[in-house]
Amino acid sequence: MIKKILLGLLFALLALVAVLLINTFRFSSIQQKVAALPAPEVAEQALDHFKGAVNIKTVSYLDASKIDTTQFIAFHQYLEKTYPLVHAQLKVEKVARFSLLYTWEGKNPQLKPSVLMAHQDVVPIEEGTEKMWTVDPFAGTVKDNFIWGRGTADDKINLISIMESVEKLLAAGFKPERTVYLAFGHDEEIGGKGAEAIATLMKERKIQVDLVLDEGGVITKEKIPNLAKPVALLGTAEKGYMSLILSVEKSGGHSSMPEKETSIDILTKAIVKVRAKPFDAKFTTPMQGFIRAVGPELPFLQKMVFANTWLFKGVLVGIYEKTGPGNAMVRTTAAPTIINAGIKDNVIPTMASAYINFRLLPGDKGADIREKVIALIDDPRVKVEYKNGFFTEASGVTDEAGSGFQQVAGAIRKAYPETLVSPFLMIGATDSRKFDEVSSNIIKFSPMVDPIGFHGIDERVSVESFKTSLWFYEQLIRGL
Ligand SMILES: [Zn+2]
Repeated sequence: MIKKILLGLLFALLALVAVLLINTFRFSSIQQKVAALPAPEVAEQALDHFKGAVNIKTVSYLDASKIDTTQFIAFHQYLEKTYPLVHAQLKVEKVARFSLLYTWEGKNPQLKPSVLMAHQDVVPIEEGTEKMWTVDPFAGTVKDNFIWGRGTADDKINLISIMESVEKLLAAGFKPERTVYLAFGHDEEIGGKGAEAIATLMKERKIQVDLVLDEGGVITKEKIPNLAKPVALLGTAEKGYMSLILSVEKSGGHSSMPEKETSIDILTKAIVKVRAKPFDAKFTTPMQGFIRAVGPELPFLQKMVFANTWLFKGVLVGIYEKTGPGNAMVRTTAAPTIINAGIKDNVIPTMASAYINFRLLPGDKGADIREKVIALIDDPRVKVEYKNGFFTEASGVTDEAGSGFQQVAGAIRKAYPETLVSPFLMIGATDSRKFDEVSSNIIKFSPMVDPIGFHGIDERVSVESFKTSLWFYEQLIRGL
């Protein structure tokens, strides 16, 4: 009897191993095969143009009175002067005052147009950190094979690479098959009203777009453990954004005679409850795409895990959960960001409130998350309300088998032949989320290799990144 059971177990085990191995061997590369076309060296002139763009302080501030609009006008004049063919041959419109929409008519009006996006604005230099920069943040210094300065990585490399490529193609007499729009918002860093106005304009004109390409994931050589090759991360969706305000009102009084529970007690318990129980981990479509694209390229053991998520999902989630960025890829997150209560050390406050910021996974609706939060807190004394103007659902998901994804992937494989291409979920927000109604093919990708100092000190991109970024856009436009 025991022998039979043991034998049965042995067979089951062997069958399991066989399934795991078969799945692993069948888990083969899905990378596009494209003939490599290495990029030429960057012309000194293109480098000068990039530098000139960094010199202009197109800084966005949440406090609108601090924004120097003359810088945006100067930036437009700079583009006109630097790219004469673009301005002679493309239609240029100013939208929402400072956003730019260029129209490059294609040969075939039957084809759906494409949109290439970038934003003109940059984030401020945080007060007190000016001296911590190695170089003047607006000088556009080229040093140690990097181009340094605020906005180099976010997002002027894309804007200048697009303009350089179009100017070059115009000089060569090239005319695109389909119409190409260039859409450059002016306030991405403070909400993106400019891009929204452009998207609305296109909706009014009943323009349906084939591909929208905006900033997003980058090419990384180091961020994916155990992966020998660099990988280009193409954002096929972005998380939603929601802030909830938790508030408690309870008569206060003197701190010498506290009641059993104060407003602060009730509020902090509520926050702890929300934080203690993370939302369910999920492999969204972009995440499944990532597993499918990167998995076959990994060493055998990891490959086996990726090839058998039906069995190892728990293991994978466990690995992702360990870090903040990893955790953000697999679930809707909650982060308390502001607490308000109290005015004096010996007075118990009547009012206490807190902000919790949520980043919503595609598929998790804000209203459902709010219901879950109310249930978790399970205390009618805590009011849970939306913070007005700080709520966007997760974006739609772009199909990685669709032409948009495949065109971008093809251009990457050409310009960066060693690089793998994979879908991924964007954690941060971009202007392109406003285009959900204009296109179902939105790709969030910046063709640069591991930029440094995003929004921080010593922001910079390598000259190599600029070289291949120029080449990428040229190849992409030719192929659109
Ligand atoms: Zn940006």
